[in-house]
Amino acid sequence: MQELKKLPLINKDIIRQNPLDFIREDKNINNLQWKSTSGSSGKPFKVPKHYFSDAIEVILGYRAWSFGKFSYRLREPAIVIRSFSPKENEPIHKRDIIRNFWYLSPYHINDGHLPIFLKTFKKSQAKVLKGYPSSVYILTLLLKKHNIKLPQIQTIITSSETMLPKYRNEIESYWQCDVLDWYGQNERTVTVQQCSYGNYHNNDDYGICEIDTDNTIIATSLNNDIMPLLRYHTNDKAIPLHEKNITCECGRAMHIPFKGIEGRQDDILYKEGKEAIPTINFYNLMEKFQNIKQFYILQEEDLSVNMEISENQPLNDNELLQLKEGIIQRLGNVPLQINVVKEIQRNKQTDKVKIIESKVKL
Ligand SMILES: [Zn+2]
Repeated sequence: MQELKKLPLINKDIIRQNPLDFIREDKNINNLQWKSTSGSSGKPFKVPKHYFSDAIEVILGYRAWSFGKFSYRLREPAIVIRSFSPKENEPIHKRDIIRNFWYLSPYHINDGHLPIFLKTFKKSQAKVLKGYPSSVYILTLLLKKHNIKLPQIQTIITSSETMLPKYRNEIESYWQCDVLDWYGQNERTVTVQQCSYGNYHNNDDYGICEIDTDNTIIATSLNNDIMPLLRYHTNDKAIPLHEKNITCECGRAMHIPFKGIEGRQDDILYKEGKEAIPTINFYNLMEKFQNIKQFYILQEEDLSVNMEISENQPLNDNELLQLKEGIIQRLGNVPLQINVVKEIQRNKQTDKVKIIESKVKL
């Protein structure tokens, strides 16, 4: 690890300038297939696709999804409420027979489509549910509203968005099963997942995970043999551990690098004077408002804030006032607009629901 630290950090901007410098020298670059990723900054970024690293990722998935009490096996049926965006007039479900994945659209988790969801759960006999934290959360609220329990599910796997404490509480108390969050990136550097004890274990055989002084995740790939990134600044912020070198009751020796994921560094809000405010402060604030179903905070370049909220129950004037005061207390006297919307929209390009987005340039 000390040797590794002699190397400089690299980031997306550096790679973007000369992507071919990061490709293995003996690789015929003309045969490479590229995968574009949609960074929140909107600037395009692409990484080479490779069968080998895709295969390792799949195998790693099988291991990671068995970190709960239920052991996931090859071709185990799973309900997947992510990475699927049906076109208009297309069915809201599809099946991947090879992997035995039963996809349901994260855009259609509502009263009208509930029967299709229930039918798919029953038919699949899946014991595993995978999704974005937001899609599993919305499904949980819908099932709760209709008083429907689905005891067949034994492990829930979430990834690709920030797992808010509010989401986790709701999901865990309803499903009463393992809820395992997974962290990885398109750049294929590190993957980290939770076990049933809630600790995030790094896949040490896949990549090396360092945490910078500002809590950014610095990742070194051990498995990507086309574009092996060393000390890559991921732009993701971790929630640091208070103690170092903790061991887990699950008995796995895999390193525990952080307590959780806070979110993208790009999506940090700034106070007057451009002082960065950790996102976790807003998550904590929002915990107090049980009638808020979901929220989205957008900070414009001039620091003004537009907030959208969707409600479980209508907020009264006093709650709205408390919400405004809470935001102002954290961000200072920036212009603030709060709009109540029916539903927080999922981004059609990324499929994800953003929680906090910042357009502030430093
Ligand atoms: Zn563990």
